[in-house]
Amino acid sequence: MEGGSRTTFLLEPVTAAAVEYQNGDWILLDTGFNVDVIRDPARRASVFNYESYTAVVPPGDPLLDQTEAAGLVWSKLVGAAMSHLHLDHSGGLRHFVDGPPVFVQRREWEFANTVATLSHCYFRDDYQIDGLTVVTVDGDTVLAPGLKAVDTPGHTPGHQSFAVSLGTRTIVLAFDAADLRENILERRRPGWMVDANYSTAAQYSIDRLADMEQESGTEVWPGHDPNWWSWQRPGKVSVYS
Ligand SMILES: [Zn+2]
Repeated sequence: MEGGSRTTFLLEPVTAAAVEYQNGDWILLDTGFNVDVIRDPARRASVFNYESYTAVVPPGDPLLDQTEAAGLVWSKLVGAAMSHLHLDHSGGLRHFVDGPPVFVQRREWEFANTVATLSHCYFRDDYQIDGLTVVTVDGDTVLAPGLKAVDTPGHTPGHQSFAVSLGTRTIVLAFDAADLRENILERRRPGWMVDANYSTAAQYSIDRLADMEQESGTEVWPGHDPNWWSWQRPGKVSVYS
């Protein structure tokens, strides 16, 4: 987070979520790392050239394994929505070739395909894929029943969070607009922003999420917080629970 220690490092979860409907249809929110790249020494060396950032992945394919463990059937997947296209979010898009649509903010898609480089933590091979159906949206957008994109730029130009309505309860998945719970509680911007020009946007976004947290029945979940309960105990949150 902005103002955080430069010498203390966190082992943070890379998170994704699924919104499942009663008929079994589901929508994936973010896709994690491309584990094939991480496990190939040459490909890994060609892209993971960061001094203070590395990837640790469990055995198998965590996206496929954990969606299966959650009882989600890929034939019932009707779409995906991406908070942004950083390397730890877009790595699973290779599973969407000739698949259902992938929703991305227009500003994010344009930045990712024109300006973004490895130095911005974008791997173009993760999303410049033949057979991917990308649908761009502008700002707050209802993507599906009970699922709304919430415009939260700053971490990247077209970052979006997601509000999931579960009856009387709303869960807002902040993703990287608020890595840690402290970001929300203290209204502190993320440590990573595209550049200094985005600090105002990042503050707008964290204020927006902190305001949502004040609304009755609304919880804002941080994207990378190793201490946040839902990432320590992944599972289902039901409308009826
Ligand atoms: Zn990010």
